Amino acid sequence: MDVSRILLSPPKASRQDVQAVVEALQSGWIAPAGPHIALFEDAISRTVGTEHAVALSSGTAALHLGLKALGIQEDDVVIVPTATFAATAFAVTYLGATPVLVDVDSTWSLDPALLEETARDLQRRGTPAKAVIPVDLFGSPANHDELNSIARRFDMKTLADCAESLGATLQTGAPVAGSGAHASVLSFNGNKIVSTSGGGMLVTNDKDLAEKVRFWATQSREPVHWYEHREIGYNYRLSNVLAALGFSQLQRLEEEVQLRRSVRDRYRELLDVPGVTVQVDPPWGTSNAWLTLVTLDAGVHPQANQRLIFELERCGIEARLPWKPLHLQPVFASAPRYLNGAAERLFKEGICLPSAGSLSDRELVSVCGVVRQVLRS
Ligand SMILES: *Cc1c(COP(=O)(O)O)cnc(C)c1O
Repeated sequence: MDVSRILLSPPKASRQDVQAVVEALQSGWIAPAGPHIALFEDAISRTVGTEHAVALSSGTAALHLGLKALGIQEDDVVIVPTATFAATAFAVTYLGATPVLVDVDSTWSLDPALLEETARDLQRRGTPAKAVIPVDLFGSPANHDELNSIARRFDMKTLADCAESLGATLQTGAPVAGSGAHASVLSFNGNKIVSTSGGGMLVTNDKDLAEKVRFWATQSREPVHWYEHREIGYNYRLSNVLAALGFSQLQRLEEEVQLRRSVRDRYRELLDVPGVTVQVDPPWGTSNAWLTLVTLDAGVHPQANQRLIFELERCGIEARLPWKPLHLQPVFASAPRYLNGAAERLFKEGICLPSAGSLSDRELVSVCGVVRQVLRS
């Protein structure tokens, strides 16, 4: 890795992390089974306050089996925010179900009013949505209480996509991942706040749901002494070696959230420029500040985010545009959609700046120097 570059959200391995992996290797459990998996699952359960946690090979696998366990099948309809990473909607398609794309509000959380309107319209058309997947975009809590209550009223299951928001909380202090949905999904992919290079977790208070997911993820192997299969299975379990790494990284979660929140606060100080808004927490919760999202008012700085990405890249700084709305993705060209323009505005005006907790003040000042210079030109 080029150390002089400033990366968006690079994974970081401490000496303890390295030691944890070495110990797991030396224990001989180089397999998708072993003592570190249960340790990591227990630690995550405690962190998010759920009774059950199932470690899986990715967040996408957790979305897939979570939806399956909620009873989603072929030709069912599942509501997905259009402002999210494609994996949220991909998982719906793995089951032969249809993602219906719904827009977000000014907090970039699934828009409750539009969700209600969509649920009602789908009902009227005779294709009621079976489930909805709220997403905590860039670590900022979705309006979970409100969305869960709408889901209950329309008899929809909820699977919370908390892939980006481990460490984020609601106003009550409750972690977003454990809060009210039937199940929630975490990701430990390369640049997430806790990274095992690749990995995920499904967390829930529903024992049957957790057991089903664990069973399917282990090739649906029946508990007998030979390989007996009555159902289609998946090879979706997390490696024990990676679980050891995840357990070690998790010890630093709180510290990392505080660091990333101070990075975001520092951006707010350094980017006190007209037409520039550094994302704030929504009224109902506290972000883990996984990525700092900045919006550049198109009326003041037209197309500034595109110019900025190139200029930052030229200076060795990695930034990223927000997720391109799913309704603009060729692969979802035929997905039904209910829009209000917010996700497209975010894509047009937003930029995610380097957000690692390890960024020095000098690095933050130099990132903001480039931003200010581009906005002046
Ligand atoms: C990262 C991510 C996922 C997928 O997680 P993987 O572990 O990479 O499979 C799903 N949804 C969102 C919103 C994500 O950011």
